[in-house]
Amino acid sequence: MAVDTLPNYINGLWVEADCRGLLDVENPSTGRTIARAPLSTGAELDRAVKAARAAFDGWRSTPVGRRVAHLYELRGLLREHSEEISRTLVEEMGKSLPDARAELKRAFENVEVACGMPVMQQGDKAVGASYGIDGEVLRLPVGVFAMICPFNFPAMVPFWFLPYALATGNTFVLKPSEQAPCTFHLITKFIDRIDLPPGVFNVVHGDRAVGEAMLEHPGVDGMAFVGSTPVAKMISERCAQNGKRCVAMAGAKNHLVAMPDADVDQMIRNMVTSCFGCAGQRCMAASAIVAVGDEMYDTVCERFVAASREVIVADPLDPEVADEPIVMGPVISARAKERILGLIEDGVKEGAHLALDGREIEVSGREGGYFIGPTVFTDAQPGMKVHRTEIFGPVVVILKAGSLDEAIGIINDQQYGNGASIYTRDGYNARKFKLDTRCGMIGVNIGIPAPVAHLPFGGMKASLFADIKAQGKAVINFLTQDKIITERYWPEA
Ligand code: NAD
Repeated sequence: MAVDTLPNYINGLWVEADCRGLLDVENPSTGRTIARAPLSTGAELDRAVKAARAAFDGWRSTPVGRRVAHLYELRGLLREHSEEISRTLVEEMGKSLPDARAELKRAFENVEVACGMPVMQQGDKAVGASYGIDGEVLRLPVGVFAMICPFNFPAMVPFWFLPYALATGNTFVLKPSEQAPCTFHLITKFIDRIDLPPGVFNVVHGDRAVGEAMLEHPGVDGMAFVGSTPVAKMISERCAQNGKRCVAMAGAKNHLVAMPDADVDQMIRNMVTSCFGCAGQRCMAASAIVAVGDEMYDTVCERFVAASREVIVADPLDPEVADEPIVMGPVISARAKERILGLIEDGVKEGAHLALDGREIEVSGREGGYFIGPTVFTDAQPGMKVHRTEIFGPVVVILKAGSLDEAIGIINDQQYGNGASIYTRDGYNARKFKLDTRCGMIGVNIGIPAPVAHLPFGGMKASLFADIKAQGKAVINFLTQDKIITERYWPEA
């Protein structure tokens, strides 16, 4: 079967990429190549940035109501084609269809919130700042923003920034993940239909070379990055050196705390979805459970392991399982599988008990896929490699704590601070957890506390290198700069 090579989208045109080579994009359920992504060069990125710069003056002068009219249209097109987009997403990334649909829904929500920009971008006016003098704060777009995306949410993550950047009057250059570029290629076909002026939105496919060219390009005013912690840290440092605004959202190791008074049936169901949805490849996936007290520890070990055995591991596009809510697909690549298997081996070597071993799983008819079954370690100690490393696969460690304070200490002692949740009916303990846990997003009886689009999204510590979080009102501060006017007029003589 012929396999398409993805074009770039620059200055309103589909262009064959100036590239160093092509990368196979695989369906991780089968290992088959479904497309080829160009490894674009810095010269290609330069063309996209120049197009975005050239479009900026016209776009920032376009009334905000006109700018968001394009977004209304985009929302309609994306909704109309949501099933096609969801299936493309599943094919290249491997999450379940219900997960892909939910991802897309969050992308729509971000477009909807950005459509409120005519109100949200309004500035302030201080009449009578002094005698006969008024003060005024204008919230103006900055220029060209560039974004580097991860593989795990190829539809949603770009929408944490893109619709807000366009609505505020900035222009944009996007680099999708080279591991999952097809979803945004399809979305770009719909963006192409909303008649944005050429250059306002551009896509350049490629690997780190394109990302690095963005960091060095003098025409890029701000960078949004979402991906792993080492890259996020490097990007925030380079942006600081190069005078660029930057939000760099990074890795995670999210903990779930089971208190002795938790509703066990609800909690276990919720934990399984949080840990194994998307094969553990969500930045908000839980991968460590801390049970407080001996009794709850024994209950969690027994019930969580039993429930994990029930997770259906399959190709999510297999019609037999396509609409099951708890299907777990493959991990993204052969390389990711090898890395995760190595970390499981490390856990065994360092003495954690492998209570459920997903290493040998086979999915009939999908022998070329990168599947790992649900894997659970009990008797794990805080600080073990399996506890402190972001495994980004279907591997969970269960730890014991003697008290809530000890559980919070375990969470706070590790480097990441994206999300954490507590299961309890006790308001006092829930409040303590909310205030004392050093994570950016907290759940109370919610396993995946991913905030809706009109609230900010982002972590703390090594999970976020920025002062500002993504989506909602918060991101407008990142995408605009205040200009403060002080003015007076004398009466005509
Ligand atoms: P990754 O860091 O390997 O790659 C992310 C992107 O960065 C890709 O587009 C890649 O091409 C690019 N890149 C890699 N090295 C680069 C470099 N030196 N310079 C410039 N660009 C470079 O991450 P991934 O494996 O695609 O995604 C998984 C990671 O993303 C996990 O760590 C996950 O926790 C994180 N993530 C975080 C959030 C969040 O909200 N904090 C959301 C989604 C994913």
